[in-house]
Amino acid sequence: MGAPLYFSHPAGLEHETGDHPERPERLTAIERELGRREWLGYERRAAPEVALATLTAVHAEAYVERVRSASEGEGEALDAEGETVAGPGSFRAGLHAAGGACAMVEALLAGEAPVGFCGTRPPGHHAAPESTSGFCLFNNVAVAARHALDSLGAQRVFILDWDVHHGNGTNDVFRDSREVLFASIHQDGVYPGSGPLRDVGTRAGEGYTINLPVPAGSGEEAWVSLLEWIVVPAALQFRPDLVLISAGFDAHRDDEQGGCELEASSFGEMARHVRDLGERVGAPVGGVLEGGYALEPLADSVAATMEALAGDEPPDSTAPDFSTTRAASFIGHHWEL
Ligand SMILES: [Zn+2]
Repeated sequence: MGAPLYFSHPAGLEHETGDHPERPERLTAIERELGRREWLGYERRAAPEVALATLTAVHAEAYVERVRSASEGEGEALDAEGETVAGPGSFRAGLHAAGGACAMVEALLAGEAPVGFCGTRPPGHHAAPESTSGFCLFNNVAVAARHALDSLGAQRVFILDWDVHHGNGTNDVFRDSREVLFASIHQDGVYPGSGPLRDVGTRAGEGYTINLPVPAGSGEEAWVSLLEWIVVPAALQFRPDLVLISAGFDAHRDDEQGGCELEASSFGEMARHVRDLGERVGAPVGGVLEGGYALEPLADSVAATMEALAGDEPPDSTAPDFSTTRAASFIGHHWEL
C-alpha cells in the first residue's frame, strides 16, 4: 500500500470572501506548515473537479445552478445572514473541494493508501441539499460518502464530525439512512443551534445519528472520552468499510469561532483513535477540512492530525468492547444488528 495522500488545488485560493474568517490564507498557512515538515510523508495529488452527476446525488440541480450563477456576478450571499458568499472563483473552488473528497475516497477504496486528507476550501458540513449557510457551498464529505456508496462498492460509511459546530448539513442528508453512521461532537448553544442529544436520526436511520453536544469550555478530556467511550464503540459495531472525518479545527482553544479548549495535540489524539478504529475494522480513513480560523493553531492542528493518521502510535487508551460499555445502553437499543 502506498504513502498517505494529500489532496489540494490552487482553485481553493480563488474563492474570495473579503473580510471574513473563512479566507484563502487558511490554506496558505496549512501548506506552509506542511511544507516545513516535508509534507509528513504524504503524496500530494491535485483535487479534480467533481462530476456534476456526483454532486447532484446530494444537492438539488437548482441549488448547484444558484451557486454557479452567484459566482458569475461580483459576489452574492447565499444565506439570510449574509455570511456565506459566492463570487468569481467560488463555484470552481467548490467543485474542486467536493472533487478532492471524491478522488480521495476513490483512491482509498481502491487500496492505494490507508489514509488521506483533503486540504481544501470552502468547507461543506453546513450545506444541505437545497440551501446552505455557515461558509459552506457544497457538502464535500456527504458528496464523497454518497459517491462511495453509489459507485465504489461501499456499503457502510462512518462520518465523524469533530468541528466545534454541529454538522447540520451532513446530519440532514443522511438522517433517514442506515448506510451512513454520522457522529458529531460539537459545542452546545452555538451556531447552527442544531444537534441535540435526542436527534438520533429518523425512520430507517433511527439510531444511526449520534449527536454529542458539549458545553463551552470543554477540553480534551471531554472530547476524547466521548470519542473513546461512545463514538468509537458504536462505529466498531457498525463495521464501516470507509471512515471519513469532517475535520474542523475551531474547537482549538485559540479559535474565536468556538469556545472549547482543545490543543493541536488533542486533534492528534482524536485522529489516533479514528485511525485505530479504521485498522480494527479494516477500513481506510480520510479527513476533509471543515472549519478552523486561527491560522497558526489551524496549521498545527492539521499537521498533528495528518501525522497521527499516517503514524502507528496507538491512542493513549481505548475503551473495552462495545457490549461491556455504557455505549450499548446509550445507543445500542436503536439498532437491529
Ligand atoms: Zn466550525
